[in-house]
Amino acid sequence: MDQDCLFCRIIAGEIPSSKVYEDEYVFAFRDINPQAPVHILVVPKKHICCACGINENNSLYVAKCFEAIAKIAKQEGLMNGFRVINNCGEDGGQTVMHLHFHLIGGVKLSEKIL
Ligand code: AMP
Ligand code: ZN
Repeated sequence: MDQDCLFCRIIAGEIPSSKVYEDEYVFAFRDINPQAPVHILVVPKKHICCACGINENNSLYVAKCFEAIAKIAKQEGLMNGFRVINNCGEDGGQTVMHLHFHLIGGVKLSEKIL
């Protein structure tokens, strides 16, 4: 737990969020500024700064995030598909330095950068 980290404080319940899923490893909640009908942030309960901070000691949390994404997508009725986005670092547009995956869907997504 990093006291200065927004997402650590959300996970700890110190800052309110609209929770959609929680287990031992993962916390997921609705993005405050949704970019699609479904926009959920899937966050490891361990403070990992970004994709560059993933290593052999914490990668289980990342795997658990993706297990959770599959469950949440089902829960949210995203049977037609969805997009998962991770922004890493300044050039990647990351604004909250606690690793998170944007789960976006509920509409046909057209904008592509790849
Ligand atoms: P990123 O730019 O990839 O670091 O994503 C950070 C995301 O966190 C943005 O989409 C914000 O809208 C979202 N966000 C910031 N503060 C909150 C909050 N208190 N509750 C929910 N989402 C938030
Ligand atoms: Zn954190």
